Amino acid sequence: MKTNGILRHLHALDRDCCLLEKTAAVLQWDQETNLPSLGVKERADQLALIEGLAHERAADPRIGQLLADLGSGSEHPSGDESLPPAERDFCRVVRRRYDRAVKLPPGFAADAARAASLSQAAWVDARRRNDFAAFVPHLGAMVGFARKRAEYWGFTGGAVYDGLLDAHEPGIAAEEIARLFGPLRERLSALLKRICAKTASCPETAGDRDFPALSYDTEQQARYSRELMESLGFDFRRGRLDTSAHPFTTTLGFDDVRITTHYKKDNLLSAVFSTIHESGHAFYEMDINPELRETCLAEGVSMGIHESQSRLWENVFGRSRAFWEYQFPRLKALFPGQLGSVTTDVFYRAVNRAGPSLIRIEADELSYSLHIILRFELERRLFSGDLEVEDLPRAWRSGMKDLLGIEPETDAEGVLQDVHWSMGSFGYFPSYALGNLYGLQFLKKLRQDLPGYEGDIARGVFSAIRQWLRENIYTWGRRLDPADLLFKVTGEKLSAAPFLEYIETKYTELYGL
Ligand code: ZN
Repeated sequence: MKTNGILRHLHALDRDCCLLEKTAAVLQWDQETNLPSLGVKERADQLALIEGLAHERAADPRIGQLLADLGSGSEHPSGDESLPPAERDFCRVVRRRYDRAVKLPPGFAADAARAASLSQAAWVDARRRNDFAAFVPHLGAMVGFARKRAEYWGFTGGAVYDGLLDAHEPGIAAEEIARLFGPLRERLSALLKRICAKTASCPETAGDRDFPALSYDTEQQARYSRELMESLGFDFRRGRLDTSAHPFTTTLGFDDVRITTHYKKDNLLSAVFSTIHESGHAFYEMDINPELRETCLAEGVSMGIHESQSRLWENVFGRSRAFWEYQFPRLKALFPGQLGSVTTDVFYRAVNRAGPSLIRIEADELSYSLHIILRFELERRLFSGDLEVEDLPRAWRSGMKDLLGIEPETDAEGVLQDVHWSMGSFGYFPSYALGNLYGLQFLKKLRQDLPGYEGDIARGVFSAIRQWLRENIYTWGRRLDPADLLFKVTGEKLSAAPFLEYIETKYTELYGL
């Protein structure tokens, strides 16, 4: 078979893998948004079947043969140098998925998917009843599946956690993350302490402090979320907004990118910022080069790069003064009773209020990374054998005290608060803080190329920003690995410096430190 024929065949097999993955994503999206509670068991079986089929297809020996015919091996994944660059990237990504898939024994993917589905349901229940003990067997099983998966992939002994990290952020190891998180731990904690001291000595007035928790009609909130997405350039012909307990984004097809949010009557800001955050994820997925459509390259390259985009939109753009110069009059028009007397400056300060808090997803931009560092350190200890599942609540409380200076009274507000571990997603949390770092490195370059970008934001114009992000980051999909993408755009390696500089400048000004 000639090269073109081999590539065509490989693309056809890859396309089936992608279709099965998207089919599983539809079932997962439905589970999070619409599924009646008694439907969980059947859904677990449905997902297990589809995940099993997807794994079978990904491990199809024909893929191994076709890759070999193109000169791709585990050592030289990109294949023959005469192949076009995009096809070499395609081979590299298919090779990676194939090598991982064939290393897992038959039935493993389906068993893990079924257990994760049940564990997630058990977590919902345990969190509601604040009963960590009831969740322990499920969490233990999830740790077991994750450990086995990494070991099958060849990450053994002290490297197990590296294997889990690599699945979310290709090419990064725990040691490197610890090196990046060191200065974050130190400087963010110090800044938070200075803010606490300052707010203790000069507290805000009650009116300025309390307005986001007044009562806000959820229908009106939903209307604003939609208007906001439209003004950022979200194309509703290619996506949807729905509600779920935890906001998320999922790609069900090249022209079907869905986000969710949640509306709380007594918290105006929650839906606003989760909508912007998830829109940032969606823009990345929607702006991948259409030529990559229906291939494994047509998705975000890593969770860290994905978070760099959602957090750039949510925090750097969405929590800027310029953003609310344009948006606040619109929000005010929908809630004249609650916001009528609030000025743009007071609102800007309210959306950037910082302080120690218990819940990660409600944390401010400054302390958020500290919540992540806690989870990273606990995961690392879990997989090094230094910490048992049963001891997590105690380790959680002492970590919170150490990093944020506060402790939760219940496990529901502590170790049970996040969905990730219940689904077996270990090694995922660091992506959020890595995203902050990538994001500010990208911004440094964006600012050089588009010096007027803040003026655009103040006028509600996002076309030039979207175009810059599309051309420099989004269009690549998975063609470049995270470190290569970062280097291509910025000429730099991953660093905490731009993020720390941004946070310290912003909060020193905000709090007059
Ligand atoms: Zn996100």
